[in-house]
Amino acid sequence: MLILMEPGATKEQIRRVLVLLEAAGVRTVLQESPVATSILAPHASKALKADRIEPMEGVDRVVPITSPYKLASSDAAAGRTVVDVRGVKVGGLELALMAGPCGVESRDQLFTVARYVAESGARLLRAGAYKPRTSPYAFQGLGTEGLELLAQARREFDLGIVTEATEVETFEDVERVADLIQVGARNMQNFALLKRAGRSGKPVLLKRGLTATLEEWLFAAEYVLSEGNRNVILCERGIRTWSVHARNTLDVSVIPAAKALTHLPVIADPSHATGRRDLVIPCARAAVAAGADGLIVETHCQPAQALSDGPQALLPSDFFQMVGQVVGIRELLVKGQPGETYGF
Ligand code: PEP
Ligand code: MN
Repeated sequence: MLILMEPGATKEQIRRVLVLLEAAGVRTVLQESPVATSILAPHASKALKADRIEPMEGVDRVVPITSPYKLASSDAAAGRTVVDVRGVKVGGLELALMAGPCGVESRDQLFTVARYVAESGARLLRAGAYKPRTSPYAFQGLGTEGLELLAQARREFDLGIVTEATEVETFEDVERVADLIQVGARNMQNFALLKRAGRSGKPVLLKRGLTATLEEWLFAAEYVLSEGNRNVILCERGIRTWSVHARNTLDVSVIPAAKALTHLPVIADPSHATGRRDLVIPCARAAVAAGADGLIVETHCQPAQALSDGPQALLPSDFFQMVGQVVGIRELLVKGQPGETYGF
């Protein structure tokens, strides 16, 4: 259940509710926001009835959490979760843009891309140091050397770093450099990795698996949340269908469908969803129009020479064009919404 406290509830009133729940053996999570405090108590209804808590002083109401993914469910939060990635508020009114090459290839390549990503106004640089590749003979990423280059780019261009952790063994190294740790599509049900991500102090970008249903994706998020990490961002990156014109199929409808079921931010990756440069911008526009809170996009200064995913990398000029268009779409969608002033 989710216990919503009255806006003026005192610390003592909140403490009394926590004491009651904990005495009944219920795990609690205190959620404080500038508007009101709430107490999340998954599986509490087995131990305590709502009518025992609702009359307590300072309690506004008790909301049952009926879905099986207790922490990811939209019932589990008083509003939408905004994940702060080095000052970028993912899930807020502003569209969060993450961009960069598929993989870190060299200092020159990374810094060239980072420079124009920063110029575009985006504040998060994406690039993999560890690359999960279909073929064991394909470029596997620069590993620790790639992480070191990312750390340098972070300092040089004042950009947050989004990079992937592919295994538990190297998670800590990635964690040290990343501002947002990506768990890739192939690892969406790597439960050991999800649990490790759940114990991290860094936010997690959870990509949807190639054949995962919305429910499986939310349960994967639940693995991270249930270990204590509340900062999870979901990413739709296309699923496997019988279409052969594109690498994957961008599931546009899953964006609003996910946002109806979960309080977590949802972004889209039109690069892996299409695999084709000419389809990336139209699909980026579609995702933002469908309510995506942000985009993660691949761009490269010399796509023909890229060591991975060259065919889907936007050229710098395309990238600037896309940024202008998607920011414009987002502005139209959030115009007049209270809470934040829009600006990019
Ligand atoms: C990537 O972001 O480069 C990547 C490999 O993504 P995905 O896990 O979606 O395939
Ligand atoms: Mn890629």
